Amino acid sequence: MSNSISAVASEAITAQSTPGSWSASTKGKSAMSATIGSWTPRQGRSTLGWSTRRPGRVADADEEGEAVRAALLLDLERATSHRRPGGISPNTTSAPRPASMDDVRAAARAVLLLDHEGDTDEALKQAHVLAAEHPKSAIAQRLVGDLRYAAAIRAAAGDGSEKEREAEAAAHLRAARHALLATRRLVPDCVGVAVALGDVFCASKMYGLAESEFRRAQRVPCPVDPADNNVTYGLYGDDEEESTAAERVEEARERARRLYATMAVEKLVPIAVERVLDVARDHGAAEGRKQAKRVAESFPNLARVQYLNAYMDLEFVCGLDAAIDRSAFLRRTLTSAERAAQAFPKSAVIASFHARLLFVLGEYDAAERECRRALVMKEPDDPQHDCIPPGSISGENRGARLMSLACEFHELPSDYWNSMSSERQQDFLFVRLDVLQGEYNKVDQLRAFTVSDVQSFVKEMGSWRYWVCPICVGNKKLLDTGLLLSHMCSKHPRAVLPRLQSVLDPKLTEKALEGDDSMDGLSFCQDSDQKDMITFDKRSDLFKWLFYAPSSGVGPKPFAEIRETKRHQGNMLLESIKERMKTLPADKSASEFAEALPEIHNLWHNFLRASVMDYRAIILTLARSFLWKELKKCMTEDQKAAAKFISSADIDAVFTEEGSIFTKEDDTDESLNIIESHEESKVHAADESSETTGNDRELEVHAADESSETTGNDPELSGPPVNITASVDDLDTRVKNLQIEPNSDGSITTSEASSKVCLETLSRYNDLDPDESIVVSQFGAAVMLR
Ligand SMILES: [Zn+2]
Repeated sequence: MSNSISAVASEAITAQSTPGSWSASTKGKSAMSATIGSWTPRQGRSTLGWSTRRPGRVADADEEGEAVRAALLLDLERATSHRRPGGISPNTTSAPRPASMDDVRAAARAVLLLDHEGDTDEALKQAHVLAAEHPKSAIAQRLVGDLRYAAAIRAAAGDGSEKEREAEAAAHLRAARHALLATRRLVPDCVGVAVALGDVFCASKMYGLAESEFRRAQRVPCPVDPADNNVTYGLYGDDEEESTAAERVEEARERARRLYATMAVEKLVPIAVERVLDVARDHGAAEGRKQAKRVAESFPNLARVQYLNAYMDLEFVCGLDAAIDRSAFLRRTLTSAERAAQAFPKSAVIASFHARLLFVLGEYDAAERECRRALVMKEPDDPQHDCIPPGSISGENRGARLMSLACEFHELPSDYWNSMSSERQQDFLFVRLDVLQGEYNKVDQLRAFTVSDVQSFVKEMGSWRYWVCPICVGNKKLLDTGLLLSHMCSKHPRAVLPRLQSVLDPKLTEKALEGDDSMDGLSFCQDSDQKDMITFDKRSDLFKWLFYAPSSGVGPKPFAEIRETKRHQGNMLLESIKERMKTLPADKSASEFAEALPEIHNLWHNFLRASVMDYRAIILTLARSFLWKELKKCMTEDQKAAAKFISSADIDAVFTEEGSIFTKEDDTDESLNIIESHEESKVHAADESSETTGNDRELEVHAADESSETTGNDPELSGPPVNITASVDDLDTRVKNLQIEPNSDGSITTSEASSKVCLETLSRYNDLDPDESIVVSQFGAAVMLR
C-alpha cells in the first residue's frame, strides 16, 4: 500500500515542477462556487500552501487515515447510539448481507436514497455498515466518503459555536478523507474518485494534496468508468445510459479543472500574494520581486498574479537609492504592466495600474487612452478578484468597487494641477472666446452656436440659462419655470392637459431649479489686448468638472444635437405627465389625489431639468476639451525640462492615493449613500416650494436667430435629464454635509474625501452630459442604474 502512496507523492512532486501546464482561469468560478461555496472554512493561512508542499504530505494523510480509524468507529458508535437506545454495532446489523457486486450497488443506492429523503444520520450509519462489511468495495467506501463530506458541510453551517461547528466538520472531513483514500487504493484509475478526494482535501485546507488529486484526475492513463465506483450515477433513472463512459471521464476531468481553478483563485493565489507581500516587508522588495516572479510563472493565467509581478517590480523601483533615476526601471515595470493589460483586457485594476505608470513616465496620451479603455470596458472583472493586497478594494458589490476605481481615472491630472503655482493656475483659467469658438466650430460646420451670443444673453438677462419648449419649432426662450408652465398649459393644452396648472403650484420647484443661477464659477472679461475672455473661478465647484472627467474622451457636441436631445427627453416626460394626469381624480380632497401628487410633481421636476438650456454646460465642455489639451502640453514640457529624472516622490504622487482611497472599509459604502441620496434629492426637490422671482419676461427669438433649431429631428436621441445648476447646488450641499471644505486655493485633493467628491462629481456630470453618463454607467452599472 505504501508503494502506491509514494508513487502518488512523487507524482505530486513532478506536477509541482511543471505548474505552467495548468490553465486555471476564473471562468469556472461562479459555476463551482455552489460546490465549494457551501463550505465555509476558517479564515487564515493554511500550513499547507502550494509553495511548501513536501513529499511526505500524501503519506501523512494516509497515516492520519490509519490513526483516525479507531476514532471513526467511536464516532460512529456515538452517532448511532443515541438514535437506538440499545446500540447497534456495525457487526451486529440485522441487514441482510449482500452477496454480489450488484447487491452492494443496490444496497448503496438504497442508502443514498435514504440520505436524499433526509434521514442523513441513518444513511451515514448504514453506509458505514456497508463499508465495513465490504472493505474491498469501492462503491461502499466512496459512499461513506461522499456522505461524510456532505455531513461536514452541514456541520459547518449548523448550530453551535464556531468552535463546535469547526470541530464537528473537521471530524467528518477526516472520516471522508479516510474513506476516499481507501477508495483510491481500491480503484487508483478512477478519475471520479480523484476529483472527490481533491474536493475534500480542498475543504480540509490541504491545498497541496488537493492540487495533486486534481492533477492526477487529468493524467490517469486508462481511466475506468466513473459510474462503476459511484452509485450516484443513474440513481433516478437512466442518466447513466445517456452518456458514455468516455464522456463521464471527460466530465469528471472538467470538474477537476473547474475545482482547481476555483481553488487557485480563492485559496492558493490570495495565500501566495500575502506571502509575497510578507516577504517583501520582512526581507525587502528585491526578494519579494523574485518570489512574485515565481508565483507569476506558476499561474500564468490569473490576472492577480500577473499584476502582482508588476506591482512588486514597482515596489522594488521605489526602494532604489534616491540618487537613481527610475525611468529605465519603470520602463521594465511598464513592460510587465502592458503585458498584463493585454492578457487581461477586462481587469480594471490592471488598467488603473497601467495608466498611472504611463502617467508617471510622462506618456500622457497613452495614459489617457488607457483611462478611456477602462471607462468604456464592457463587463469589467470585479476588482475584488485581482486587487493587491487582496481585499484592498472594498465595497458592498461589484458596481461599488468599480466606482471607487473609476475615480482613479478621473483624478490622474489632479496631482499635476496641484503642483502648479497659483499664478500659473490662474493664467490657465483664462480662455479667449475665439479659442472656445474654435473648439465649437470643430464639431459644427453650421456654427449654430456662438459664444458672443452667450455673452450678450448673459449681459442682457443676468442669467446663464433659459427653458425650451419641446413642442414649439422656434427657439422660444422661457426665462423661468413658471413661464414654461403657463406656456405649456396655454399653447399646448392637449399635450399636458390644462388642469396641470391647477395641480402644480407655479412657484413649485423654482427654488431647487433656480437657486443656483448665480454668476459664480464663470465670468466674462478682457485681456490686455481688449480680447474677450472667459475665466473660471477655481473656488467654484464648476471648476472641478474641468479636470475630473477629461480622460473620458467626451467632447463638445453640436448645439442642434443638444437641443434635440432636450426636445426628445421633454416630449417623453410630457407623455408620462399626461398619462398620470388622466387618472388623477377631480376631487382634490380624495386620498388618491394626494397620493398621485408627489409623482406628478416629480415628473414635472424632471421635465424642468430636461428642458433647461444652460450655457455654462456648453462653455464648460468646450473649455474642458481645450484646457485638457493645454494641460497635457504643459505636463509634457515640464517632463522634458526635468530631463526625465523620475524620483520616488514622483511615483508616490501618482500611486499613493491607492492607500487612502482603496483601503477604507466603509469608503465606497458611504459613496454609495451619497449617490443614493443624490437620487433622492432629485425626487424630493419637487416638493419644495419657494418664492416666485416675479420674473414674467418671455423672450421670443425666431428660428432664424439660431439656425440650428430647425435642423435635426432624430427621435433616436435620448439621455437623462440635463441640468447643471441643480447639480452644482446639490454638490455644494453635499460637500457641506460631508464636512469637506472645498479647497479655497482651488487645488484638487486626492484624499479619501476627494474620492467621495469625485463620485459625486461623476454623478453630477451625468446630469451635465448624457453621453458621459453612458460611459460611467457601463463602468459602475450596478451603482448608477440602481
Ligand atoms: Zn411651445
